[in-house]
Amino acid sequence: MRIVLLGAPGAGKGSQAKKISEKYNLPHISTGDIFRSLLHQDSELGRVFAEYSKKGLLVPDDLVIKIVEDRLNADDCKNGFIMDGFPRTIPQAEAFEKDVHIDVALNFDVDKSILMDRLTGRWTCSKCGAPYHVSTMNGITKCTICGGDLVQRDDDKAETVEKRLAVYETQTKPLIDFYKKVGVLQNLDANKPIEEVFEKIVQILDNL
Ligand code: AMP
Repeated sequence: MRIVLLGAPGAGKGSQAKKISEKYNLPHISTGDIFRSLLHQDSELGRVFAEYSKKGLLVPDDLVIKIVEDRLNADDCKNGFIMDGFPRTIPQAEAFEKDVHIDVALNFDVDKSILMDRLTGRWTCSKCGAPYHVSTMNGITKCTICGGDLVQRDDDKAETVEKRLAVYETQTKPLIDFYKKVGVLQNLDANKPIEEVFEKIVQILDNL
């Protein structure tokens, strides 16, 4: 199964991608995670990413497309994948569509006030990436899964979040129509709790 997850930052794509990956044994490909992993290495691409993401901007299309192409050549993608955070612009979607047939694009629909709260309150484990929300952390500073330090992503600070949501509206939202035209769009009410959204996703995927 080849799955694309569409939706604004904070819509819950990453959490659902992990659950889908476990249940259907498909690799979870997050372009944001790939870029963040470069920050630990001394690489030119890591520096480019830091510069753009700090401002809430998207990395240029050609760089992202190349990274995804390389990742899709890996053996674990032979039976499909879950694409989380790509494509994010029409040129990315067009380049992707030329090479790969997508089975479903799941669109996570969430109210803006909920997105703001989820993102500005989000803390992330610096080691395993597990997400936390400040309202339920009760002052803990270490990950309860792996013991890593909990940190706030630079781009989850309030000013940057506003910018990321604006970028979503202008550059990424048009992908909803793009995938509707391709005929693979499925809309999800992602204001609902994680388990409820996941049940709906399982229904959709089991019907493909
Ligand atoms: P995410 O973790 O998906 O919110 O991505 C974090 C940041 O990585 C974004 O704000 C962009 O700067 C960059 N990024 C991730 N995926 C893409 C993409 N498909 N196109 C352009 N930039 C991306």
